[in-house]
Amino acid sequence: MTDHSNDRSRRRFLKGTAAGLAALPVAGLSLSAPRFAQADDELERLSEDDPAAEAVAYVHDAADADDPAYEEGQICANCSLYTDEGGDWGRCSVFPGKLVAAEGWCNVWVPAS
Ligand code: SF4
Repeated sequence: MTDHSNDRSRRRFLKGTAAGLAALPVAGLSLSAPRFAQADDELERLSEDDPAAEAVAYVHDAADADDPAYEEGQICANCSLYTDEGGDWGRCSVFPGKLVAAEGWCNVWVPAS
């Protein structure tokens, strides 16, 4: 990976994180510890219509990504912000209290190191 792609990923991460955090009050989410402590079977799946999801162009299926930042092969499951819980859905640090699809994508995608 080149320094330029690292810079692009870093910029996308910072931009998407800022957009996601800005959308949190709209989505009614909080960063309180109890949300992080929820078991996966208690977590809601993130809706593509959620304002926080729309802010970062999130889709459940990366093949449906319609964002210029998308590059083939990028999916939530290979994003460093994704926590694999062993199923088709996992946690994402951008969306605390929600699950994202392993095959999903958003423009905050950061390569796993
Ligand atoms: S895990 Fe998915 S939704 Fe979360 S930042 Fe990465 S690409 Fe976006």
